[in-house]
This record gives sequence, structure tokens and C-alpha cells, in this order.
Amino acid sequence: MENNKSAPGFSTDEQVIIVEDSRIFAHILRNAVINELGTETVVCSCYKEAQDYLEHNSQNVFAALLDLNLPDAPYGEIVDLVVGKGIASIVFTGEVSDDLRDRMWSKHIVDYILKDNQQNVQQVLDVLKRLRLNSGIKILVADDSSTSRKIIRDLLQVWNFKVLEARNGREALDVLNRHEGIRLLLADYNMPVMDGMEMVKEARRNFSKTRLPIIGLSGAGGATTSAHFLKAGANDYMHKPFLAEELYCRVRHNLETSEYIMTIRDMAEKDFLTGLLNRRSFFSSAGKLFENARRGNLQLVVAMMDIDHFKRCNDQYGHDAGDEVIRYVADTLQSTVRKSDLVARFGGEEFCVVGVNMRLDHIETAFDNIREAIEQSVITAGEYQIRVTVSTGVCSALKDSLEEMITCADDLLYKAKNQGRNRVVTDISS
Ligand code: GH3
Ligand code: MG
Ligand code: MG
Repeated sequence: MENNKSAPGFSTDEQVIIVEDSRIFAHILRNAVINELGTETVVCSCYKEAQDYLEHNSQNVFAALLDLNLPDAPYGEIVDLVVGKGIASIVFTGEVSDDLRDRMWSKHIVDYILKDNQQNVQQVLDVLKRLRLNSGIKILVADDSSTSRKIIRDLLQVWNFKVLEARNGREALDVLNRHEGIRLLLADYNMPVMDGMEMVKEARRNFSKTRLPIIGLSGAGGATTSAHFLKAGANDYMHKPFLAEELYCRVRHNLETSEYIMTIRDMAEKDFLTGLLNRRSFFSSAGKLFENARRGNLQLVVAMMDIDHFKRCNDQYGHDAGDEVIRYVADTLQSTVRKSDLVARFGGEEFCVVGVNMRLDHIETAFDNIREAIEQSVITAGEYQIRVTVSTGVCSALKDSLEEMITCADDLLYKAKNQGRNRVVTDISS
């Protein structure tokens, strides 16, 4: 048995076990897993060896790569052993028939992969990465039939998903509202109280197709049901009964599409260095808040903040350390303001904050607390310990436009700089 206990950067409770008698193939797999995932791997060359290892270590194993044909277990017995221990199993086989495929899926494997070329190793890595991502992902299954829910739940749990259940559309909407971060909904059509179609329409009032992909399910109705489901706002549709393989492909496809779109959106809306809103998306969000403030629905302040003598910081410690300082100040700002407030990176070392419904007598203290927190921080950047201060200008009087408020805050920031930096100047105090 080979074991790379020293794999860098990975917790020891996350192992991948490879059970494979071909030394060459086991070696290729092991290197690929270590290099791309950094996960500790254990290689066993026969059933008996794997059995001995798992007897005491199965709780550490996160996934298994299994050869169906082993010298001491030629009929895939290894799959029963490993799946029986609750370990996510990916199966290799030299050839695949319909009969074998059915047999494998019925054993609750994660996937099967043909051993015929190098590209398939990449497929294994993709599945392992997906399994690791899935363990934080919640999927809601809405179906009135407990048998149907159980089948779907069992299949999804094999892929590490956390599964929530609802018995009708109304219950599903309740679960969606009570649990944050549900990433996919599987919706049966025929359900009492509220059917799947009605539920999809309701859910779409609050959840976009990107944030919550929905896959409609039905045992009846055929083409009409699928068209209606899609029209009501579902992203996809499956006819019941379906194969495990179809469920996995559709779930994965819908999740990945939603993840790609969210990543692209993040890249377009957020500043690359700090993850704060960039200037463009700031104006779109802040514009809406400002309009609400003009209608009298909320009170709003705009603050401009700038790191003092930042040029010196770059000159003294280098640009990379400077970046670290910018990130630190950004994190401090983001974690101090409320969820309803906005924080954006406006330029190099300049930030804009929109605070919503702050108590008038608390505005100056709130921004001064941020100033003080930054003044007292020691920022570690590589070998350096860096201290910086910030100056802030705050405009609390509602003006005719957002731009005017920003200009006002900018003027007050200029004042703060002129008065010696490391201070807050507001239109209340000045
Ligand atoms: P003041 O107190 O008056 O604000 O002085 P300052 O030195 O902070 O202001 P100045 O505008 O003269 O210099 C800002 C510096 O910030 C210059 C620029 O090279 C640097 N800078 C801008 N963007 C970045 C960035 O993304 N990373 C790093 N490390 N530095 C940046
Ligand atoms: Mg039903
Ligand atoms: Mg500056």
C-alpha cells in the first residue's frame, strides 16, 4: 500500500482511496489526484488490502476510485464493500454493457468511467472536485410521494448534496424562505395544496433562474407538461421514472450553469482586488437607494474614504504589500457596515460608503470607529508589519443628486486631508 501522508495543505481527514491492480494506472491516477486536488491518496492493489485498510480508516475516506475487476474480486465485489461503508465511489471499467451499467447504478455509485484513455483521468478529477463542492450545497426536493422523495434523496446524497424535502408546493415555498442558500429545486407536478407549476411561478417572484435553478418532474403529461413547466419558469424538466445518470447530468448541468453565470456576474460587478462593488455597479445600486431617500423612504449618508500617504506605503514596502493594505482596509469596511449599506472601491486607495438609516447623532462616531480600528491595526504583508491611517469625508444632507452628495463628501475628505489626515470631517461637524 502506498500513502502520501505528506500531501501539502490538506487535512488528513480527507483521503481518496484508489483500489486498482494495474500499477501504471494506479500511479497515473494517484499523481493526478495529488497534483490537482492536493488530497492524500491511499493505493490498494486488491480487495483484501482495501478491506483491511477500510476496517479502521473508512471515516477518513472522502471518495474511492475502484477497479471493477480485481484479482481477488473479479465481479465488482469491491463496490459493495466500499459503498456499504458510505463512501462516494467512482468505478472504472474496461468496457461497459447496458447490463453492467444498470447493475452499477443500482449499487449507488457516483459515476462510472471507462478506462480507455488519458482524458478519462480528467473526468475523474472533475467528479472529485464536484463531490467536494457539493458537500456545502443544499437541494430542495418537492414531491408528495414519500417513495419518490426517498429515491431522489438517496441518489443526491451519493453526490454529497444536503437534501431538504417538502410534500407540496406551499411547504416548498416555506422551506425556501426559511433556509438560506438552497441552490436547486426539484419540483414534482402533481401535488396537493399547491402543484409544482403554481409553486414555480410563485418561487420566481423572489428567486431568479440563475440563483435558483428549478427542474420540473412529472410521471404524466409528457410533452405538454414539460413545455408548461419551462414556460412557468423552470430551467429544465425530467420525466419520471428517470435514470440515476440522467438526474446526475441534469443536476450537475444546472448547478454549473448557475455557478458560471454567478462567477461572470461577480467579475463584472466586483472589484478584482478587494471583492467590493466596483464603481459601475456601485452607481447602479446606490442610485436606487438615493431615489428611495428622495421619496422619503429612507435616510442616507455618503462617505468618501482615502488611505493616508499611501504612496509612501507603496514606496517603502512595495506594490504587493500595498495591495495587501488596500484589501485589509476594504475588509474592515465591509465587515463594519451593515448588510443594507454599500461599500465600493472607487479608485486606487479610495472607497465610497453609502450608509442607510443611520442615527444622525451616531454618524460621526460610526465613521470615527472605523478610522480608529484601522489606525490601531497592524497589517501583515509578507515580511512586513504595516500601519496606516485613513481620512474620511461624510455628507449627511440629502442633495438633488447622488453625484452632488459624492462631491460634497469628496470636498470634506479634502478638508480632512488638509487638517492633518487620520480624521473624519462631516457636514454636521464642519
Ligand atoms: P494622501 O494622503 O494625500 O491621500 O496621499 P497618497 O500618497 O495616499 O495619495 P496619492 O494619490 O498621491 O497616491 C496614491 C497611490 O496609490 C499612488 C498609486 O500608485 C497607488 N495605488 C493606486 N492603486 C493601487 C493599487 O491597486 N495597488 C497599490 N499597491 N497601489 C495603488
Ligand atoms: Mg405527485
Ligand atoms: Mg491617499
